[in-house]
Amino acid sequence: MSEISCALQAVLARIASAATACGRDPATVQLLAVSKTKPLAAVTAALAAGQQQFGENYVQEGVDKIVTLTASAVLPQPVWHFIGPLQSNKTRPVAEHFDWVHSIERLKIAERLSQQRPAHLPPLQVCVQVNVSQEASKSGCALEEAAALCHAVAALPNLQLRGLMAIPAPVEAENANAADAAATLALQRAPFARLRELYEQLRRDGLALDTLSMGMSDDLEAAIMEGATLVRVGTAIFGARNYA
Ligand SMILES: *Cc1c(COP(=O)(O)O)cnc(C)c1O
Repeated sequence: MSEISCALQAVLARIASAATACGRDPATVQLLAVSKTKPLAAVTAALAAGQQQFGENYVQEGVDKIVTLTASAVLPQPVWHFIGPLQSNKTRPVAEHFDWVHSIERLKIAERLSQQRPAHLPPLQVCVQVNVSQEASKSGCALEEAAALCHAVAALPNLQLRGLMAIPAPVEAENANAADAAATLALQRAPFARLRELYEQLRRDGLALDTLSMGMSDDLEAAIMEGATLVRVGTAIFGARNYA
């Protein structure tokens, strides 16, 4: 087995044991492999090992990978998720090439994606990104503004609102003394619980949501305990990223 294939199996095992430990069916948690900064060969290795959904953060890098793989004979083709910050002047290539966008944080971006989604493609599947760590520096819309944004996004014609996404502040940064694993887990769960409560509220309000996109390499267990339906994992599958 390739290194990526082994790492992928290990992540799937973590997901399965976290789900089982809290009484969930592991099949209710999907794995999104985050391939940002990694070469296309890493994507094709994971694809060959059975991984089907991939996440990218940078528009040009993601579109380049999608175009190259689409032109190749590789089957099945991955499902591509855009998960990075999105500026309004970059929405068109995302609307034209990706299947999903997780990082909707303002209505203007959603409106442009809806306008620019080509008519021959299915609706773009989207999540609203929410700032659950209450830090000015973090991306995502404010918790108090999320419900109104979700209702407005759900009304756009060429988007299908699937759920919510969050990237909580890393727990180590908040509490350097969280040596005790149980304490760390409790700290990690708190922001995920806020996102889950909002998700449940929106479903009670009548929005047909099925996706809670939360949890990464270091906190996927906490996210699964709080109901994540999709975890976004990069480092644990592909190794550390080099931004140099
Ligand atoms: C990079 C990234 C991830 C993956 O993070 P890892 O810690 O490498 O697993 C997940 N979600 C988003 C939005 C990211 O930007």
